Amino acid sequence: MACYDLVIKNAKIVDGTGSPWFWGDIGTKDGKIAFVGKAPEGVCAGEVIDAKGQVLAPGFIDIHTHSDFLLLRDPVIVSKIKQGVTTQMIGQCGISPAPIKPDKVELLDRYTGFVKAGAEPKYNWQSFGEFLDVLDGLKLGINVGTFVGHGTIRLNVMGFDNRKPTEEELAEMRQLANDAMAEGAFGMTSGLIYPPGVYSEPEELVEVAKGLTEYNGLYLSHMRNESHAVVESVKETINVAEKAGIPGQVVHHKACGKKNFGLVKETLKVLEEARERGVDMTVDQYPYTVSSTTLRSILPPWVHEGGIDKVIERLQAPATRARIIDEINNTDDWENFIQHCDGPKGVMVVYTPKTPEYEGKNLVEIGKMMGKDPLEAAFDVIIANRGSDNACYFMLDEEDVKYVMKHPLVMVGSDSIPAAPGAKCHPRTNGTFPRVLGKYVREEGTLRLEEAIWKMTGFPATRLKMQGKGLIRVGMDADLVVFDPDTVIDGADFKDPFKDPVGINYVVINGEVVLDNGKYTGKTVGKVIRRT
Ligand SMILES: [Zn+2]
Repeated sequence: MACYDLVIKNAKIVDGTGSPWFWGDIGTKDGKIAFVGKAPEGVCAGEVIDAKGQVLAPGFIDIHTHSDFLLLRDPVIVSKIKQGVTTQMIGQCGISPAPIKPDKVELLDRYTGFVKAGAEPKYNWQSFGEFLDVLDGLKLGINVGTFVGHGTIRLNVMGFDNRKPTEEELAEMRQLANDAMAEGAFGMTSGLIYPPGVYSEPEELVEVAKGLTEYNGLYLSHMRNESHAVVESVKETINVAEKAGIPGQVVHHKACGKKNFGLVKETLKVLEEARERGVDMTVDQYPYTVSSTTLRSILPPWVHEGGIDKVIERLQAPATRARIIDEINNTDDWENFIQHCDGPKGVMVVYTPKTPEYEGKNLVEIGKMMGKDPLEAAFDVIIANRGSDNACYFMLDEEDVKYVMKHPLVMVGSDSIPAAPGAKCHPRTNGTFPRVLGKYVREEGTLRLEEAIWKMTGFPATRLKMQGKGLIRVGMDADLVVFDPDTVIDGADFKDPFKDPVGINYVVINGEVVLDNGKYTGKTVGKVIRRT
């Protein structure tokens, strides 16, 4: 009789394909699933977990995280394990720590400030492959796969220049994208609201994305606009994928601002039409009505030109400062977050390391603390923090969240931006997956259980062509989660974004039990996954 390393019995198995659950047991051997079915009485096993009728599913794949730098400081990330996440994808929204030329390190350090999570990177890598080697050397808690950021690539070639690339620069950027793919990236991401990504025209993105074509890499975009022009932005994303002949994905999809609620119906229709003519497009989403990005995203686009030093210069010049306030209050032909949030009260500062006293407070409260107009106060906070400023924006619609979530082209991704020690963050970082299972499956019936699990496992694994993950099948990697469908729920909220979820009881990664009865076992068995 076969002997297994681990047997999980009496489970309601949800296999990651979307198929209905079934009762069963599984056995693992050497980090792989070796048996699925009914285990005989007295089966030989190194360890047995009795699931007692709870759900057994493939470990969750978080396709959208900003854990890049956090990994250097905290390679375990227990908060991901506690959500049932066994694999995460980094390098999102145009921002990746590699490649990096030595003379561009300082620029990259500034560019990535708001996802730095308190890490102090040594930048002891240059190429994308060298960065993956650095990750290989860490004691990782969960598996990690990577994307290369278009913003990082552009910064290497053109700094923060606001202009079109020359033919030579374009060729170099395309080559850097191609090199990253060859060295193990799963695709390229863009962040078209952040400098330097914001300076790139659609033609540039197409030409750089052609560096992915040979490998059929995935192009993921934090789009140029997620409010009044969100439909045009989706069309731009489709255009890049179509012209480069690669699959594309719209990330953290939403429509910001009351005036734009409901536009997601149109965007998803446009995406369906693209698929009908053969363009392979998909979407990811986090389950909240609050978004999170830099605090300086409240400023009009022109203020960002030239990078953070120029932003600070402009905010310090009285006449320019007055013009910025006037534009925020009186114009809406740009992504005006203050207006989308119905005023400064809807903007909550979550990470400003030089002014920690304002973290967790909204701009009206900060204005009161400083004895200033809320916008003036926000500008002072931006100046003081020199590029490390993160905020939450209360500007999305619950009905939109559900509409997007239910759509068959949409998978779950947390868009987690981790907090620095002592700072706060958006609760999605620590609550996304249990929240979908508790709030949107059990409490509200937005998704069927099997559908939700598929959006967290089989769907992203298929999307990434990540062989061996995302399904419960003999031969697949033994990345597994056992949770109680009657109690599972997120704990994190805006008051306490670090509160643990409830109901996630066992997590297995590469065959090893890393969460045992809700407790982290101290094992570090995560692996760096390279595209093959
Ligand atoms: Zn983003």
